[in-house]
Amino acid sequence: MIEKIKQYQKEFESRIATVGPGEELRQLRTDFLGKKGLVTQVMKNMRELSSDQKREVGRHVNELKNWIESQLNEKAEGLKGPSETAGGSTFDTTLPGRKEARGSLHPITQVMEEIIAVFVSLGFQVAEGPEVESDYYNFEALNIPKDHPARDMQDTFYIGGDKVLRTHTSPVQIRVMEKQQPPLRIIAPGKVYRCDSDISHTPMFHQIEGLMVDQGVAFSDLKGVMNIFVHQIFGEKTKVRFRPSFFPFTCPSAEVDIQCVMCSGKGCRVCSQSGWLEILGAGMVDPAVFGFVHYDPEKWTGFAFGMGIERIAMLKYGINDIRLFFENDLRFLQQF
Ligand SMILES: [Zn+2]
Repeated sequence: MIEKIKQYQKEFESRIATVGPGEELRQLRTDFLGKKGLVTQVMKNMRELSSDQKREVGRHVNELKNWIESQLNEKAEGLKGPSETAGGSTFDTTLPGRKEARGSLHPITQVMEEIIAVFVSLGFQVAEGPEVESDYYNFEALNIPKDHPARDMQDTFYIGGDKVLRTHTSPVQIRVMEKQQPPLRIIAPGKVYRCDSDISHTPMFHQIEGLMVDQGVAFSDLKGVMNIFVHQIFGEKTKVRFRPSFFPFTCPSAEVDIQCVMCSGKGCRVCSQSGWLEILGAGMVDPAVFGFVHYDPEKWTGFAFGMGIERIAMLKYGINDIRLFFENDLRFLQQF
């Protein structure tokens, strides 16, 4: 008889695993616990047993009965529809579910990766350097000696001793050239810091610096690379122009403008009616900078360029306030 009890238990187990709600579940209860159910049958048959056997079998039957009871209740709870569990109040089970919020890359990161991809395709390698820089790398070795008026061009965070928060990614150039012999092509993306804050400046922003050094590199190479860059980021038809400028670490130096992305050169508020927008500074590496890293300026020439990522992103997406990038307002971020 104990064998039979074990057999019923197995049978019940396999049936409850696949049982459906409502009538099916009620039938299962009847089959086992009903008046003519299997468990009830075993109990009836116990009359024929001796009192010792009764005690033994009775214990097993009771265990089985209680176990089946609890299994059935558990199953019934699990199969209840949502309208039954919501405290009796009905709700529309066909309503769409709540979507899981998915994160995405920050627009600055996206633009940075896009720019990096353009230069990597031209054979440039990514280089990095520290954000806390010494005066030497941030200024001195870039041909900006102490008391040089060019230091006023950048509002520097001095943090004690000769340490500064780097004001540009240009020091990476020096660090790479100290370790590596030409020819080389690098870009250095990263955070830079200036003591400045308004609608188009934040104390921290991102720059990408580029440097190419080889034999016979000319200003025309710089123009060619800048043209490819602008066309890939702003579209094939975007016009580019070079304006003479001054940077202590390049000579000659130029500022690169693109045709205004808002008005296509007709003149608007964004471009101050000029039809052009400045996007980056560039030039041929000053031989004095080569002197600091012991490159022979008679043998090697090179060009360098630097741009603010926020500025590129603002022009690319028509964003008018740089601070939007740092407020982390999801309504803004989710547009990218
Ligand atoms: Zn314009």
